[in-house]
Amino acid sequence: MLKVVILGSAAGGAVPQWNCNCAQCAAAWGDPALRNTQVSAAISADGGQHWFLINASPDIRQQILDTPALHPAKGHLRHSPIAGVILTNGEIDAIAGLLSLREGTPFALHAHARVLATLRANSVFDVLKADLVPRIPMALDTEFEPLLPDGTPSGLRVQAFAVPGKPAWYMEDAGADPGDTIGLKFSTGEGDSAYFIAACAEVTPDLAARLAGAGLVMFDGTLWQDDEMIRAGLGQKTGQRMGHLSMSDSITALAGVEIGTRVFVHINNSNPALLPHSPERLQAQAAGWRIPLPGEEFTL
Ligand SMILES: [Zn+2]
Repeated sequence: MLKVVILGSAAGGAVPQWNCNCAQCAAAWGDPALRNTQVSAAISADGGQHWFLINASPDIRQQILDTPALHPAKGHLRHSPIAGVILTNGEIDAIAGLLSLREGTPFALHAHARVLATLRANSVFDVLKADLVPRIPMALDTEFEPLLPDGTPSGLRVQAFAVPGKPAWYMEDAGADPGDTIGLKFSTGEGDSAYFIAACAEVTPDLAARLAGAGLVMFDGTLWQDDEMIRAGLGQKTGQRMGHLSMSDSITALAGVEIGTRVFVHINNSNPALLPHSPERLQAQAAGWRIPLPGEEFTL
């Protein structure tokens, strides 16, 4: 059995973003129920005793506070049910939260070699001591079972695979590499699988075939339409320029693919589908998609 908890489903900046009064942020400044943290999920293969985080969001401390399953167990002076962190990229949204996981509790860090090179090049991440937080390279297309901190098997099977995308913005000068944009597949070896794909520039036939039959797909929902940030006066980049297929196109591209539960994650605050009664939200829901808020749980 897989348990998945959405810790946050917003893109970088979250909702509301500290300096933004776009329609979605303005609504969230006024209504706490509309607030959302930067995307991350927790996943467990042992009924919730141990959890692996997908990425370490800058909002990780608030996400842990808001998620009782991630609190230290009573009766232990120092403890965390977080057994590891699996990184999908080297963006700030994915790695900044690692700095909040210092203080001497062991966990494993799994990431592609290119992301590990980013961490190695930034000495501030050495606050996570190598003897407590081993950095384990994650090869593409190779299933592995992350271990618990005591060395015993977690029961979780993970497979990373490349999806169409682009490098982290601060690494664009270094050129693109197959490890830049990664999707993750989770399973226990029996039952349905869960997929996490928070950045994706295109649904290729290969990707559609891979997702067919999945129990849960958490998919890139950054923008509703490709030029919405430019239209709203929020930025100069299109979704494609940032390596993101827009929601309206993803809905179409995945419409014929058999998926148990489909949810959007990494939703930018410019995306009108964040508002519960917007036409865009209703269109996504009518197509079978959900816009999860922090704390939503799925069991497979
Ligand atoms: Zn905004």
